[in-house]
Amino acid sequence: MNTPSSENRPPFLPFALPEIGEEEIAEVVDALRSGWVTTGPKTRRFEQDFSAFLGDPGLHAIAVNSATAGLHLALEAVGVGPGDEVITTTHTFTASAEVARYLGADVKLVDIDPATLCIDPAAIEAAITPRTKCIVPVHFGGLAADMTAILAIAQKHGLKVVEDAAHALPSTHAGRLIGTLDSDATVFSFYANKTITTGEGGMLVTRDAALAQRAKVMRLHGINRDAFDRFTAKVPSWYYEIVAPGFKYNLTDIASALGIHQLQRAHAFQRQRAALAAHYNELLADLPLILPPQPAPGELHSWHLYVVRLADGACLHRDAFIEALFEAGIGCSVHYIPLHQQPYWRERYQLQAEDFPHSQRAFERTATLPLYTRMTLEDVERVALAVRRALCVG
Ligand SMILES: *Cc1c(COP(=O)(O)O)cnc(C)c1O
Repeated sequence: MNTPSSENRPPFLPFALPEIGEEEIAEVVDALRSGWVTTGPKTRRFEQDFSAFLGDPGLHAIAVNSATAGLHLALEAVGVGPGDEVITTTHTFTASAEVARYLGADVKLVDIDPATLCIDPAAIEAAITPRTKCIVPVHFGGLAADMTAILAIAQKHGLKVVEDAAHALPSTHAGRLIGTLDSDATVFSFYANKTITTGEGGMLVTRDAALAQRAKVMRLHGINRDAFDRFTAKVPSWYYEIVAPGFKYNLTDIASALGIHQLQRAHAFQRQRAALAAHYNELLADLPLILPPQPAPGELHSWHLYVVRLADGACLHRDAFIEALFEAGIGCSVHYIPLHQQPYWRERYQLQAEDFPHSQRAFERTATLPLYTRMTLEDVERVALAVRRALCVG
């Protein structure tokens, strides 16, 4: 039984929601009826469409069942192993770092640039040792990290670069889409709350043919299908060779069916997200908040996340701010509880908050407001009003 007050209350506005259309649904049904439910023609098409989307015919796109899987494959393929060190940001999801541990390598977490919330290139350079093998930058919230500086550092020290682009479809750096820069590999995520989704899924892209070949073999149990195709076309189709102890990271055609149509909408989704973010920017401009870092003129920001930080003059703390928004029927999140605060990483590497002052300060003041394509401008206004009230303004 609804009480009158709960009847009048607007419905809960969640922090994130996917947008799945009739075309996605029809393509999934087509996959189900076709008899091909695992990796097959729709996955092949999704990979081809993905390279075409990035606009670079030299790119190999390899569909995987998560970005975590793609990051693992990329680090394995660039040769990360026991005794190596991988540098990444503390201000990220654990997947950016855990994949190095899968391979027996050590992780060097470094601080962010508070102006961008992305990994600080100077902190990368300071963390390099003779054991450093690879840098894993994260394009936080969809704003590209300073890839010009990061690629220059990598070149100077002979390091590999694998971009964690889970937030960055589509985003640009120096006018080039993330995925087409000069790093060794770039990995996108199609998790449920990302800018496009396949439920679970990811894409590894690289220009390096040998890296692509290794990732393809390791994606499916270490089965060397290409050698099979090239050299043994005359042997029966049941014959295959295992050339490495690979993983089970292939993407199903059911998931790729979603991805094909989500990808076609990626630029439209980005424009909608940018318009919603611009509306937030206007409505929140006079409040004691640090608004999200903005892209340089002409650059594309995917606007995966709309992250605010409470300024010094705010009348309450972050936890109470999120609680107040929840009371107003609005879901928020925190990106991120930094890895140096997580028990595993803190204890494994004896980490202290003082070593990551910018990430720590951002974490203590940060909240992520709802931002997704199914929101309307009115939803943004509703959130902005609740934010004003929570901050004791108006
Ligand atoms: C979502 C996310 C991942 C992992 O993506 P999955 O597809 O869920 O494996 C990795 N890194 C970052 C920064 C993410 O936000």
